[in-house]
Amino acid sequence: MHTNSTIELNTTAYKKNLSFLRTTFGKKVQISCVVKGNAYGHGVKEIVSMAYKNEITHFSVFDVQEAKDIKEELQDKATIMVMGLVQDEDMEWVVDNNVEFFVFDKARLTKAAKTAKKLHKKAIVHIEVETGMNRTGFEKNELNAVIAFLKKEKEHVFFKGLCTHYAGAESIANYYRVDKQIKRFEDIYQYLCKNELKPEIKHSACSAASIMFPETRMDMVRIGILQYGLWPSPEVFVNFLSTKKSKIDPLQRVITWKSKIMSVKKVKIGEFIGYGTSFLAERKMKVAVIPIGYSHGYSRSLSNQGRVLIDGQQCIVVGSVNMNMMTVDVTNLESVKKDDEVVLIGSQNDLSVSIASFSDYSNQLNYELLTRISKTIPRKIIE
Ligand SMILES: *Cc1c(COP(=O)(O)O)cnc(C)c1O
Repeated sequence: MHTNSTIELNTTAYKKNLSFLRTTFGKKVQISCVVKGNAYGHGVKEIVSMAYKNEITHFSVFDVQEAKDIKEELQDKATIMVMGLVQDEDMEWVVDNNVEFFVFDKARLTKAAKTAKKLHKKAIVHIEVETGMNRTGFEKNELNAVIAFLKKEKEHVFFKGLCTHYAGAESIANYYRVDKQIKRFEDIYQYLCKNELKPEIKHSACSAASIMFPETRMDMVRIGILQYGLWPSPEVFVNFLSTKKSKIDPLQRVITWKSKIMSVKKVKIGEFIGYGTSFLAERKMKVAVIPIGYSHGYSRSLSNQGRVLIDGQQCIVVGSVNMNMMTVDVTNLESVKKDDEVVLIGSQNDLSVSIASFSDYSNQLNYELLTRISKTIPRKIIE
């Protein structure tokens, strides 16, 4: 645990985002909160407990370790669904703890049935089908075998869900591809029904699809980025606004990342700042050193680019972001001193540093920036 910086999670913002999502999707659509990648860098235990207090009882993760983190926090009070990797050695824990999981190949299906038999429990599976992303999912020519297997093993394997994932619903450029995926998914569902095999639910939407293609909401939506108060892309936001009278962003950022100035110094005209020669002081300058660097998740690509807030003013990163430190230009701040608050993500007075603005500077997606924020930074839930 290090104390160079802190992360605050805003309960009110989170509640607001969830209520926006509920209103948008309606009562019939279940929301599964996607908390992979340490809950998009927010902190999985904190987010899960906040979500549970807001009546969310379904969570999606990538792997078994993340599922265990949720179990530790919520015990058996919530449903957990692993969308990615379940290693063979973890299968017993998964089945024994009623953790649900995606199955996209024959080996895992067989393993699931075998484990269930051994434990005298049912494995709860979501059959993921290939519709055009070409990542994970059963191919069309495997469907008959899957159907036969699920029928034969129905005492041991519970066919909870049929699912797929879209290849880039956040961009209009992919409209045709996603549209084709939606049709294929429906065809596969119909084919299963015709073969007298019906899943309890079907689900396909991530944040972007749930907004851009409402027909993808089905029985459940797997919502990551929106719950944290961020849009998957500017296009999704614009598309959403175009359907509304109000032009106000209904989402609110949940995360704030703060640090403190560790030292202030003056730099003479004509001097370079930091490693190498990437920044030349073309005037007399004052810089503040901040104890945050790329080891904490502040990307090196924000060198000479990133903005932080000090004393209610925007200050630009000068020189390169180092492993544990960076320097920012505070020449225009009269009274700046050691221990003054620095906001890396969030607001100070009337200004704010949004996460979207980071991706503009560094070409990183919101997702990537957030998930790189170090796990060791203390998280604090605030009202
Ligand atoms: C990450 C993920 C999601 C959630 O994506 P968002 O864009 O953050 O909503 C949904 N489904 C799957 C399979 C995922 O991997």
